[in-house]
Amino acid sequence: MSQTQCPGQNMMFWKPGDIFEITCPNCHTQVEFWKDDAQRRCPGCGHRFPNPKLNEGCAQWCEFADKCLGLNRSVAEED
Ligand SMILES: [Zn+2]
Repeated sequence: MSQTQCPGQNMMFWKPGDIFEITCPNCHTQVEFWKDDAQRRCPGCGHRFPNPKLNEGCAQWCEFADKCLGLNRSVAEED
């Protein structure tokens, strides 16, 4: 139970670049996204739009993706 969380989801490992601003497609306000946000609501116009980085899939950008994806197999492969 303690080993099931993806290490990339642990904020201990987050860096400043993991929080970024995306321009609202509706009113061009800068909206702050966190890398694991599925969507955000624009504070300027209330428009909800998805996190473009999340669409890439976490394995595309997460530095722990290899550890995470191999989590269930790593014991067998390391030995
Ligand atoms: Zn907006």
